[in-house]
Formats: sequence, structure tokens, C-alpha cells
Amino acid sequence: MPQLSKRVGTFTDSVIRRMTRISDAHEGSINLSQGFPDFNPPQVLLDALAEMAKGGPQHQYSVTFGSEDLRRCIAEKYALRFGRPIDPETEVVITCGSTEAMMAAMMTVCDPGDKVIVFSPFYENYGADAILSGADPIYVPLVPPSFQFDPKVLEDAFQQRPKAIVVCNPSNPCGKVFTREELSYILSLAETYDAFVITDEVYEHIVFAPNVHVPAASLPGGDRRVITCNSLSKTFSITGWRLGFLIAPAEVAENVKKVHDFLTVGAPAPLQEAVCAGFRLGQDYYDGLTETYTRKRDLFCKGLDAIGLKHTVPQGSYFILVDISDFLATEKFAGWTDLQFCEWMVGEVGVAAVPGSSFFREPVGHLIRLHFARSEESLQEALRRLSGLRAYLK
Ligand code: GLN
Repeated sequence: MPQLSKRVGTFTDSVIRRMTRISDAHEGSINLSQGFPDFNPPQVLLDALAEMAKGGPQHQYSVTFGSEDLRRCIAEKYALRFGRPIDPETEVVITCGSTEAMMAAMMTVCDPGDKVIVFSPFYENYGADAILSGADPIYVPLVPPSFQFDPKVLEDAFQQRPKAIVVCNPSNPCGKVFTREELSYILSLAETYDAFVITDEVYEHIVFAPNVHVPAASLPGGDRRVITCNSLSKTFSITGWRLGFLIAPAEVAENVKKVHDFLTVGAPAPLQEAVCAGFRLGQDYYDGLTETYTRKRDLFCKGLDAIGLKHTVPQGSYFILVDISDFLATEKFAGWTDLQFCEWMVGEVGVAAVPGSSFFREPVGHLIRLHFARSEESLQEALRRLSGLRAYLK
């Protein structure tokens, strides 16, 4: 067989998605690895989808950069959030998830050899995004337990003249919500060193009080250099619909449209039409979403405390990092990697997690990531199973 490209040899499949497959292969396992809800989207979306199924032009391609209706919905919503008008024709691109939006953004701004700043820990896709677009990541640590960055270290990274910085806010996997001050500082450096700010804001509506989500694009200068990537997956509990979007200055969006067109032609057209119903939901819906996830976070954190597991308390997103060092210090688990621990946990405990090492540039092997986008019954059952872990510490 001819050799495959060198490129594909430089990264592995997604460990997040691999853990889901491992979990699926174990009958009855509770999958707290890949983050997606086990509850239904809002009824209005299901009804709108049923309506779409009756037939019509929406079963053919939409405009490559997104259905006009959906782009209009997005432009209206984000004009309010960003505090400036957004042109649905020139500044919005609908993509197949934020995954494609991020990849298209990176491919649009980077030439091979360009540098891109990525905070560590990071969502694992960014590594592959950088490799596929030819960019070299410069990693800047978010330092536990508060996951703040050192402003001096960030400026040093900018002095290497990166093309862009990637900001996941709220952050997967550490649950950090960037403050207005932190974002303003990042933007001021991007201004000084002439770089783009590529954000991934898919958890913008899963933020726990007193934290608030500030869109980087709403800050002074944000209209010129911020490329906002986002998704409807988490906001409307529709991860399988694969609907994401990107909002960027018109000159950038025009080029993202080309990359997107040749990668995918477009996101699923009937789903784009159906999701517009979600944009007619009022503030009550978003308040309800926050309340639901706050309850789940509190329930899960309290449960982990009761078991005696050390963990992060997220300010946003639905991820928790659990410290497994005490286990790795025992004879049974001596020398184990976090991946081996996660594989063992699926089989022995019946709960799937993601090894923390998938998210860190630094050699971190003592954390596993769990998510709590599950019904309260599933979370209770997961906690009951996790409490069995205590036996291994005796
Ligand atoms: N963002 C989710 C996670 O980190 C899942 C995203 C995905 O698998 N596309 O688990």
C-alpha cells in the first residue's frame, strides 16, 4: 500500500470519542466521558423538526454558508450580546458544529509554520486543528487551582508573534470562565502584537453564578479581531444535529466561507430550518438551562465530596476534573497511566471518564474528566458506583 500522509501520523484519534466507544461496548456503563446530554431538546425543536420532515425545499442544500433564516436569528441574538449590529450576509457562517468552525477559522488565518497560542489545559480538538492547518501551538498554562494565566507568560508568548490565540470560554475541561479583565488583557495583547482571537464559546449558557460570560467580541476592538466560534449543541441539547456557527469581521468571514464550502458544502439544511424555533424561546429558557445545570453541578460535586474524591468546581461548562493521585499511589495502580485507569473504571466501576492527559501540554497524569450533562437519576447512580472506588484506597 502507498504511504499515507505524514500529517495523519502526527495525531491520534480523539480520546474523548474513543472513551465513548469503550463505554458503549460495556453494557450498562454510564458514559460521563464525551460531554453530551441524555435528555431531550426543547419540545419546540422536536416539533419543528417533525414539521420539516413533511417535505419541502429544506431537504436540499441550503446556501453554503447557512440558511438565511438561521443566519438572521444568529445575527439578531448576537447583535444584542456583542452590542453592535451584525450583518447576517457578510459576518455569519453556519458550520457543522463548532468543531468545523474552529477548524475553518484556523485554516483561514494560518499558514504552515505560523504560531498559535493555546491555553493548557485545552479541548483536544485544538491540537489537531493546529496540525491540520500547519500551525505550531505555543502553550500557555492555566495554573490550577484557579486556572489563571500569568500575564507575563502570556505576553512572552505574544512576543513570538503568533497569528492567533485560541480562547475556550467557558473552558473545557477546567471550567474556567474568563473575566472581563482577563479578556480585555488578551485583546490588548492581540492588538499590540496584531493577532486574531479565536474563541470557542459553546458553553456560554452554562455558567454558574456569580460568574458571568463575557463574549470577547463585545469588548472594544472585538469587532476587528475576534473570530467567535459557537454551537447550538449545548444550548439546545442537540449535539447530534451538528450545528455550529462563526461570527467574524466580513473580510475574515468571506474567506472562512470558502474553506467551509470546500470542506462540507453546508450543515444539514432541514436541521438549520428547524433550529430557528429555538431562537424564539425567551430568557426563561436560558434561565432554566442555567438552573438545571447548576443543580446538576451541585449534586455531583456534593456527591464527589461525600465519597472523598478531590475535584475542581467549574465556574462554567459541565466538566469536572477529579484527582486520582491517591489511587495511583496504591500498590494496585502503581505505574498506571490515567488512560489505563479510565479503561479499568469503565469495566470495574461502570462509569466512563476521559484521561486528563488528553487536555494538558504539561505531563499531567493524575486527573480524569467527568461530565454531568446527565439526568439526576444517572448522576446519582454514577455517584453510587464511584463510591465503590473507596474500597481501593484501603
Ligand atoms: N465538547 C464535548 C467534550 O469535550 C464533546 C465534543 C465532541 O465530542 N465533539 O466532551
